[in-house]
Amino acid sequence: MELSLYQAQLSANHTHLFIPCPTVIILCGPSGSGKSTFATRNFPATWILSSDKLRGLISDNERNQESNKDTFDLLYNLLDTRLRYKRTTIVDSTALRVQTRRKLLQIAHRHDFAVLLLLIDAPEKLCRERDAARIDPPPVGAKVVAEQFKLYWEIEKTAQKEGFEQVIKLNQHEISNLQVEIVPLSLEKPEQRGPFDIIGDIHGCYDELCELLNKLGYQLENGVYQHPLGRRTIFLGDLINRGPKNLEVLRLVSAMVKTDNALFTPGNHCYALYKYFQQPDSVDSNNTCEWIERLSAKEYVEASELINALVKDAPPYMILNRNKLVVAHAGIEDHMIGKLTTRIFNFCLNGEILITPEGNKQRKNWAENYRGKPLVAYGHTPTTKLLPEFRNNTVNLDQGCVYGGRLSAMRYPEMEFIQVNAHAAYVERKKRGV
Ligand code: GDP
Ligand code: MG
Repeated sequence: MELSLYQAQLSANHTHLFIPCPTVIILCGPSGSGKSTFATRNFPATWILSSDKLRGLISDNERNQESNKDTFDLLYNLLDTRLRYKRTTIVDSTALRVQTRRKLLQIAHRHDFAVLLLLIDAPEKLCRERDAARIDPPPVGAKVVAEQFKLYWEIEKTAQKEGFEQVIKLNQHEISNLQVEIVPLSLEKPEQRGPFDIIGDIHGCYDELCELLNKLGYQLENGVYQHPLGRRTIFLGDLINRGPKNLEVLRLVSAMVKTDNALFTPGNHCYALYKYFQQPDSVDSNNTCEWIERLSAKEYVEASELINALVKDAPPYMILNRNKLVVAHAGIEDHMIGKLTTRIFNFCLNGEILITPEGNKQRKNWAENYRGKPLVAYGHTPTTKLLPEFRNNTVNLDQGCVYGGRLSAMRYPEMEFIQVNAHAAYVERKKRGV
């Protein structure tokens, strides 16, 4: 089972919890709710940072509340260090204080780790009984448990708004029976080793796309472009908008993806169209989907189905050829590779907008600072030069075809550029920086 966006999932019969990794998992619940038992049963010991165990390590007493500050400083430090090593980590503490949750979230997001909050639900009476029965460490006492429950019930109401990638509440039945399954993010496709033909922003330039595929050696067979040597195309997103033949491009790309002749990663325009069909008012004027309004009713439904199938489960970027190649529409920073948060999703589709000292908006030039090992192929920002260029192990394959430039492909691993000239300048190039 693969998950494309960060989404932990309970199986239908609640016997398995699938968790995409790497991730940080924060357990949250009163004493005696079963956090430590759940953690120990489901994860390797080295993945678990337990505040009780750290208190014990510091002061030989897991209940020593006087060591709380040092305990949590140590816990934050260990979390920070483990995430530097890109290790999935479970935080086993009550996490009932908002400051604790905020700090854990802050550390995780600083390392681009997604955070799953697991609320461990338990009847108060059960926790009191379990607490009273404890020997080592000794009970925390009924009063403390009651106070913890007050905090816990508040968190149940507010947790969704605290910035976690996901919040899941598990009841006692689930917590004692669930089997956790770690699943890789579907970004990683090490077995996909190419050879590839990576194509930049198309924006409805269907005629140029057909010409380019022909030039690359693809042939139409049963209505689908296929390469006789088994090469695959990678579409870097922004298939549509601005140009003349959007629906035709959607049909061509969808047919190739469906038959495994192509891989696809979405761009901001693809995502905007996908959102448009869900909620037409949600799309801003920059992402011009007005061609949709000119389609017949039948074509409208077709476009909606095609974009939905393409974008719904598409990964915002892909890691290919055993970590040697990464493809992302707007690019990716090296520390983000192998991870997935909402911020990374947005970065891969839209890039990041910075405000200059003069107050102007400017796209962040991430490629300038890229120091990663994998080659990153991307598009999104049309270059003014007609030939793609390598920069710090990145290559921008958007040569502004829709503006009258060229449609580019890069043969991989050959690293050759194959291009066709635009048949027209379909729209004027925007002058502003974003
Ligand atoms: P924590 O304080 O939330 O970490 O809770 P623990 O995991 O330490 O569990 C408290 C007590 O409840 C321990 O004595 C456990 O053996 C017991 N316990 C935890 N989970 C279960 C469970 O699923 N079933 C049963 N019967 N006991 C459990
Ligand atoms: Mg515990």
